[in-house]
Amino acid sequence: MIDTKHKLIIITAPSGAGKTSITRYLLQKYPQLSFSISAATRQPRKDEKDGIDYYFMSLEAFKKKINDNAFLEWEMVYEGKYYGTLITELERIWKNKQTPVLDIDVKGAIHVMQQFGENCLSLFIEPPSIEVLKQRLEARGTEGLEALQNRVNKAAYEISFKHHFNKIIINDVLEKACAEADAIVEKFIA
Ligand code: 5GP
Repeated sequence: MIDTKHKLIIITAPSGAGKTSITRYLLQKYPQLSFSISAATRQPRKDEKDGIDYYFMSLEAFKKKINDNAFLEWEMVYEGKYYGTLITELERIWKNKQTPVLDIDVKGAIHVMQQFGENCLSLFIEPPSIEVLKQRLEARGTEGLEALQNRVNKAAYEISFKHHFNKIIINDVLEKACAEADAIVEKFIA
């Protein structure tokens, strides 16, 4: 059983909305925050490291963790690709007297919010438009054509859930989006 009296912060957004840049900014500014490293079954990208970006694992290992109730939440975010927040990861962070920052998808975020209520701050990072999001993903070049189209299609669906979150931040100009996120996070962790 997880203790839901602790605080946590969720940053959610469609892929390519700039969530990672905003998350990095907050983590760098506030030492009392710590990134919650998720488990994932996708392949690491070329600059990613196991235990830093994700705990990369096989589908079998992931399914065993589901059976062992090791996850606070998990989702098949993309076809055949599973991602999940490990309870042990959050406990490690709380034990260090820090607040975990979860970079998770919209469905996982809503699931966690239902469990943590007011102890959870949720930020939805919205791209200025689907077209801009598509251009950003193309420029990033980490996905093949089909995976990219999947991410764009999913983005439109995810944006339809934005009103579930505590704060919607439109990432038009990154510095402005970071400042908005900063102001609300500062208050939450005070
Ligand atoms: P990527 O493959 O680009 O690293 O991440 C794909 C998506 O999975 C992102 O939207 C990210 O927020 C989400 N994600 C990462 N970790 C988790 C997790 O533990 N749970 C859920 N539900 N989504 C996650």
